[in-house]
Amino acid sequence: MPTESAFLLAGLFLLLAAAGWAMGRFEERDGEDAPPPLNIDYLKGLNFLLNEQTDQALEHFLAMVRVDDKTIETHFALGSLFRRRGEVDRAIRIHQNIIARPDLAPEQRDQALFSLGKDYLAAGLLDRAENLFAQLAEGSRYQVQALENLLGIYEQEREWQKAIDAGQKLEILGGRSLALQIANYYCELAEAAVGKGDFNMARQHVKKAQAGRPRTLRGALTRAHIARDTDDNKTALKLYHRIIDENTYLIAETLPEIVAIYTRENQIGELERALKALLDKYPEMSSLVAYTAIVNDLGGISVIDDCVERYMLNEPTLAEFVDLQKLSEGDRSSHDSALAKVRHALSKLAGSTPRYQCQECGFSSQRLLWQCPSCREWETQRPASRVQFDTVLQHSITNR
Ligand SMILES: [Zn+2]
Repeated sequence: MPTESAFLLAGLFLLLAAAGWAMGRFEERDGEDAPPPLNIDYLKGLNFLLNEQTDQALEHFLAMVRVDDKTIETHFALGSLFRRRGEVDRAIRIHQNIIARPDLAPEQRDQALFSLGKDYLAAGLLDRAENLFAQLAEGSRYQVQALENLLGIYEQEREWQKAIDAGQKLEILGGRSLALQIANYYCELAEAAVGKGDFNMARQHVKKAQAGRPRTLRGALTRAHIARDTDDNKTALKLYHRIIDENTYLIAETLPEIVAIYTRENQIGELERALKALLDKYPEMSSLVAYTAIVNDLGGISVIDDCVERYMLNEPTLAEFVDLQKLSEGDRSSHDSALAKVRHALSKLAGSTPRYQCQECGFSSQRLLWQCPSCREWETQRPASRVQFDTVLQHSITNR
């Protein structure tokens, strides 16, 4: 059966035929001899299409129709139709055919170059798409759209300095702030510098990241990690605490770091005091602390253990599997070891379910992703605050 694409193409052929007919009528009035408009060529093309011979139809179309002012829009429509249908090679042929026309008007040439750029993008030919968009970004009717596409390409290629330059240009031309996005590009550069052990360079990038408004919390987190990696524990702790104060959701990233530093420094008493002060300030954070402790299997710190125990007692699904009443019986050490066992088991369960979810599109992942791979937005992921038992059960059933 002919596909939807074939019918649409057939429709376009008929449009061309109609245009030819109208031109024929007009020319007849001028007293010139016009060729018969609905000629055998159109019927031949239609026949190819209706028989699903799209390749032959395309060749026939390209050979038959000269690109001129009257047919150029049809060419564009045909090209975009092919691209939308995923037939990118054909879209490329059509747009290259337009560009090859010698007397093409500059606006039409830009439109054809932009369309070809979109074709290359759809085909995954990023280098070629980048070249065309870079050319159009220099000055054309498609400048803003070209820059937007370039930004997407640089993000995919992790070319962060180029992304910063294009982003700053786009802010001026497009009239909207990309501060958060650009700050994240600087953080990417900072993290790359950390990876190379160049902490000075990393600090410079973080400084630029934090200069923008709205400020990215990632910048502060990167700064804290740099302090941690350079054994400046005092600064690291100060920064991790400040991050939680600014936005509690990042406790999932900072709590394990805070615990690790205090433990390394043998200052468990200090840690207990700091966490207690934190929970006094933000009592609603208890379940997030518990969930973070479960995911990272953190224990042996009484403030955290209390959060975990409260969390377990408030989790109805868990009550079906574990006799939580038993937890509160017996002496302190058997209570603690029972709690640790349940926490350990939960930690394994939590490891097989998503920990973060994008607030924009719902995409979920195991670790924090600063840019959502699905909707491409920045800093839209938030941590889960409970073990997704239904997902765990679903997972174990499908894997049985
Ligand atoms: Zn998303």
